[in-house]
Amino acid sequence: MAASRLASIFGTEQDRVNCSFYYKIGACRHGERCSRKHIKPQFSQTVLLPNVYQSPAHRPDNKLDQKGIQVDFDMFFEDLYMELCKYGNLLELHVCDNVGDHLIGNVYARYEWETEAQVAVDRLNERWYAGRPLHCELSPVTDFREACCRQNDTGDCNRGGFCNFMHLKRPSRPLIRDLQHSQRLERKLHEPVGQNGSRTRSMSPGR
Ligand SMILES: [Zn+2]
Ligand SMILES: [Zn+2]
Repeated sequence: MAASRLASIFGTEQDRVNCSFYYKIGACRHGERCSRKHIKPQFSQTVLLPNVYQSPAHRPDNKLDQKGIQVDFDMFFEDLYMELCKYGNLLELHVCDNVGDHLIGNVYARYEWETEAQVAVDRLNERWYAGRPLHCELSPVTDFREACCRQNDTGDCNRGGFCNFMHLKRPSRPLIRDLQHSQRLERKLHEPVGQNGSRTRSMSPGR
């Protein structure tokens, strides 16, 4: 098979070797037992933190209504955003609302640079969140429109939370605007003085 043909089918449904789910969504329901390959990228702008968001909606003793769940989620999102933007220019942050084992609570963070994503992976693997050690890895996902369930966007995915494409939980709009604004400000304040691109960002105390 010609190399160009191979490249054009890599990670698609026609690819008999590589798993299209792992490639597009960063997680596949067959996990390690998948008959196709899950090739972990050596370099990527995207970091996956699996199973981090624990929705109160899934707790048996949940008393929060939709509004309460959104408030709880916004706090979680803000927390995570503030942590993740310490490691680089955070371009996207997505949280899955799926309930299947391989996607439940998954968080995906995409940075401007692969080096930033690598720093995030190294640092976060030493951290804990909500009483549990974080585990994270580089992910092949780059295009979140491809990874998301189109039916869910129009409100008619009949698989619900068990869908194998991402169903994202969205933070409130004003929150995401504020966070992006504060990241821009923070980056401006700590712009590196050197001109060779080496980052000398100083961390503000506390955060
Ligand atoms: Zn697979
Ligand atoms: Zn769906």
